[in-house]
Amino acid sequence: MKNEFDIFPKEETINRRKFDVYELRKDFPILSRLVNGKPLVYLDNAATTQKPSSVIENIKHYYTFENANIHRGLHFLSELATESYESARLKVKEFINAMSASEIIFVRGATEGINLIANTMCRANILKEGDEIIISHMEHHANIVPWQLLCERKDIKLKVIPITDDGELDLDEFKKLISEKTKLVSVVHISNSLGTINPVKEIVKIAHSYNIPVLLDGAQAAPHVKIDVQKLDCDFYVFSGHKMFGPTGIGILYGKTNLMNELPPYQGGGDMIRTVTFEKTTFDDLPHKFEAGTPNISGGIGLGTAIDYINQYDRLELTKHEDKLLEYATEKLLEIEGLKIIGKAKNKASVVSFVIDGIHPYDIGTLMDTYGIAIRTGHHCTQPIMQRYNLPATARASFAFYNTFDEVDKLAEGLLKVKKMFQ
Ligand code: PMP
Repeated sequence: MKNEFDIFPKEETINRRKFDVYELRKDFPILSRLVNGKPLVYLDNAATTQKPSSVIENIKHYYTFENANIHRGLHFLSELATESYESARLKVKEFINAMSASEIIFVRGATEGINLIANTMCRANILKEGDEIIISHMEHHANIVPWQLLCERKDIKLKVIPITDDGELDLDEFKKLISEKTKLVSVVHISNSLGTINPVKEIVKIAHSYNIPVLLDGAQAAPHVKIDVQKLDCDFYVFSGHKMFGPTGIGILYGKTNLMNELPPYQGGGDMIRTVTFEKTTFDDLPHKFEAGTPNISGGIGLGTAIDYINQYDRLELTKHEDKLLEYATEKLLEIEGLKIIGKAKNKASVVSFVIDGIHPYDIGTLMDTYGIAIRTGHHCTQPIMQRYNLPATARASFAFYNTFDEVDKLAEGLLKVKKMFQ
């Protein structure tokens, strides 16, 4: 059967833009502003990324020329808005190579995607008393707390894959944690505080050999690496629009059709039903079953535009640039006496977490801000990682493809100034 979402034409093949970081930066208006009288050096991309003009303009265009509610009206604007929104869904489908656009559920972000799966698996009794869920020690709170809330409700046990001192998952220990009670494995693709790129394909393979489904938290992966959910063969994949140059308040839950069909709706309301009587309600097909109420229409459209933006470039060129930045930053930072990098996995992406002897990370962050340099300090919503390394917090610089080697130099110079002040 032809899927209703396949009515929208595929994007024309785009002529790739040559990667030139200084040209590309012009597309991001915020990058040329001053902060504290200094040119902004934005190195907090793991928290959220900046937006290109095309995303900003397209949201404006939507509200200026297309605004209407979707899926329900037959009038011109409603059809236009529906087409823009649904073509964004198709772009997401292509972006992660899902089998069908109906496997793409618009949610608020990675957090909501995980909560949706946790809640509906619980209500469907796929997760029940005595079951076990495996997560890892390097999860963001978004991939810990939803499962803990379940555990409280149903006496489900959470098991945790340990990490090595370098910040890699211990796969031998993972295998030992699997039992006949394991009903789900939920792990992060790329760690937001260590930068580790986990061997998720292998994890999926191991879990599937026991018929256990796998959810991957791709919040940090979507902006940095090419995602192919069919190749990964994961069952669920979540990510957030705002971390990949799109707007806040929009994100994606990918789920394999057969599994998503087994789950009940997450929320009830308009747009997710087929028929409603006071006696019984029947639900719409995927993806609408999971999209109750008026969605974040402009957010979805903005996310589609962010994907268009990324697609202008050869993804490998962007990744290569980010890899070089990471390598250069690691080198420069290790030259600073007393600085220790937390997270030394062989396979890493775009994040350098560090501590400096005798200086609290909060002081580092506050002083760096006075130089116009935005880095993150704290536990990065990964308190168990801080406990693992016995640290109260780390400072973290995280890169996007619009960052430059000059900015890495400024980061290192800034840190040297901070050190001097504390001597
Ligand atoms: N997982 C990871 C690895 C993250 O880095 C984040 C955001 N820091 C999240 C989940 C949650 O994303 P959001 O707040 O956009 O839902």
